Amino acid sequence: MHRRIFMKRSLAGFGGLLSIERYAFAAAGKKIPIRGAYGSPKTFWDKGGRLNDYGINALFVHSGSIDEALVRRAREEGAKVYAEFATFNGSGWLTRREGELERAVAEHADAWPIDASGQPSPRQTWFLGVCPTNEAFIRAKLEALKQLITAQRLDGVWLDYLHWHAQFEDPKPRLPETCFNESCVTRFQERAQIQVKGSKPEEWARDILKKHEKAWRSWRCSVLADFARSCREVMWQHAPHLLLGNYQCAWRDDEHGGARREILGLDLSRLSEVFDVMSPMAYHARSGHSARWVEQNVKWLSGNLALKGAAHEKLKIWPIVQAWSDPQGNKVSPEDFEKVLWNGTAGGATGVMMFTLGAVAEDEAKLAILKKVYGQMGAA
Ligand SMILES: [Zn+2]
Repeated sequence: MHRRIFMKRSLAGFGGLLSIERYAFAAAGKKIPIRGAYGSPKTFWDKGGRLNDYGINALFVHSGSIDEALVRRAREEGAKVYAEFATFNGSGWLTRREGELERAVAEHADAWPIDASGQPSPRQTWFLGVCPTNEAFIRAKLEALKQLITAQRLDGVWLDYLHWHAQFEDPKPRLPETCFNESCVTRFQERAQIQVKGSKPEEWARDILKKHEKAWRSWRCSVLADFARSCREVMWQHAPHLLLGNYQCAWRDDEHGGARREILGLDLSRLSEVFDVMSPMAYHARSGHSARWVEQNVKWLSGNLALKGAAHEKLKIWPIVQAWSDPQGNKVSPEDFEKVLWNGTAGGATGVMMFTLGAVAEDEAKLAILKKVYGQMGAA
């Protein structure tokens, strides 16, 4: 009995050693210039951590959590500061929280995404999107972006939720067809020079999906790329030195029936013309995958964009990998965390960050992994 347990432990230990050797070898060959951390640094700092002691040189923080004190301290510890900026997230615009209740905002009702049955598409688990052609919403977003980049001393902005209303961050994705409201259908007709039949959303949806599907999906991609370009223009005007990045769905073309482009509206080629950095959200545990999926998808993205990670390449890939253990889902062990950090730097990636720094700070073993791996990535 004891011996069998010992044998099992020995084998487990041997497997562990093998994997450490393999990943350490990968580190020796590739220096990773951007060693990032996503999330509020509060827990990390409260525990006495310093970013430079852990090799972190890029901090990615939600725009609402950034203030001068955070920027100053991050800079003192050798890290650049990038703001995550929520784009097509309808919470706070379509709905408002009142205590435990979430109420619809009547004056913004025209910005609800409309599905193929002509109905407002509901919140998909925790995410509620928005109609991406709603003018009032777009004006408010671009103004908020201007406020952010003029108020804070940032190094860049990462657009988040840049996709049509859908939920891809859950183990079972929810992918409704939207948005068939008057605003979207009118713009589609103008841009594609197509006459859509019908007089209400469900009739337009039927005609579009039956006869004009290809043009529709292409137009939807252009809406997102155009919005990203508008963000870029605001930055050129007010803070031209900033980098523009994008947190995006990490799916390959052959996953979920091509939904990254077809449903979310993310055309990599068009987006690559606008952004400086692509940050695929390669949350392996959240989507029920192993650490290997991270490597596979980062390599696929690199190939798709013809990026090798060379210094002269204008577009960069800095994936975000999962450190956080979902209380209701799959856990991320310290060993898994080590693997996904390395796998995130596969292919042409020249940086990596984790979701989240707070989740790492709460786990001594993950903190030790972070220090070791970022040390190796920086020293290579
Ligand atoms: Zn719409």
